[in-house]
Amino acid sequence: MPLDRFQREIDYLRISLTDHCNLRCVYCMPLSEVGYAPPASALTPEEIERLVKAAAAVGFRKVRLTGGEPTLRPDLVDIVKRVSRVPGIRDVAMTTNGILLSRMAMTLKRAGLTRVNIHIDSLDPERMSRLMRWGKLSDVQRGIAAAVEAGFSPLKLNCVVTRGYNEEDVVELARLTLERDWHVRFIELMPLGGGECAQISIDRFVSNIDSRRRIEDALGALEELAPAHPADESRNFRAPGGRGVIGFISPVSEPYCGNCNRMRLTSDGRFHLCLLQDDEIDVQKALRSGATQDELGEILLRAVAAKPTGHALADGRSTVARSMHHIGG
Ligand code: SAM
Ligand code: SF4
Repeated sequence: MPLDRFQREIDYLRISLTDHCNLRCVYCMPLSEVGYAPPASALTPEEIERLVKAAAAVGFRKVRLTGGEPTLRPDLVDIVKRVSRVPGIRDVAMTTNGILLSRMAMTLKRAGLTRVNIHIDSLDPERMSRLMRWGKLSDVQRGIAAAVEAGFSPLKLNCVVTRGYNEEDVVELARLTLERDWHVRFIELMPLGGGECAQISIDRFVSNIDSRRRIEDALGALEELAPAHPADESRNFRAPGGRGVIGFISPVSEPYCGNCNRMRLTSDGRFHLCLLQDDEIDVQKALRSGATQDELGEILLRAVAAKPTGHALADGRSTVARSMHHIGG
């Protein structure tokens, strides 16, 4: 398994399939001057497959497809088929806003997708529209129902908590775990891209300490669960009498960089070495100039070796050259 300079085992590749999205969450994408990569720079299914084969050959075991919104890729099913058939890859997951999922959940499952995380910030239609701007709650709910029907398990829901928009909604979302075996995870805002979304992420920040307190005031003391995996970024809990899991992803109030197991690939073919730093290594040029699997594997190992020790949010520094929708979370 690839080890970085800090002896962290890096075996998880997160691939952003596009920087476009059918929503405009206030903390992720501005309404104008979005700054997309040129369309021709998007990696093709064949290029993604070659890269994942190279990653598996050097010890990567898990892949996540993200974006932007991965379900916007018309060739998503082909990508899932190719990636899930790569020997050595045990898990192919996808992070999605769920809007288009109802029409493709079953097909994606059959193609080899193992798990989905669905992004939902509120169970109130108006508050959800205010925060995710172009989305309809009913479409996300249909996506969730389709994911359950297709047998994706455990189903994970991600909620980004944003002051003045949805900080009270954490209780109703956490309540979903009382009768269902779902994982509902609350994510702290991170400032990326240096523009209005970064500013909102700073101004509207809510600590998970506060979200946990709100949930405990309503549902009772949460019982902490042992981590399922040492690199799990979420601290997991169970509500009294609950079936599912309530998770807190706290990159700001409780950084987990010491357990990082990730390498990220942008939709235009750059390894992005740490979500919250700007360092990148280009692999697209090699892919497009006929690099062999070994050569691609060497570039990936170079990227692993160059991973920074962690983020520097406490010093007021973050990713500036890219926004969240370029990298995929
Ligand atoms: N469109 C898909 C979705 O929303 O799940 C996948 C891409 S999205 C960039 C991946 C994750 O990043 C989502 O769970 C979203 O909640 C999270 N996210 C986006 N902007 C964020 C921010 N500024 N801080 C923390 N999380 C953020
Ligand atoms: Fe789109 Fe996901 Fe960003 Fe929301 S968080 S704008 S759904 S990419």
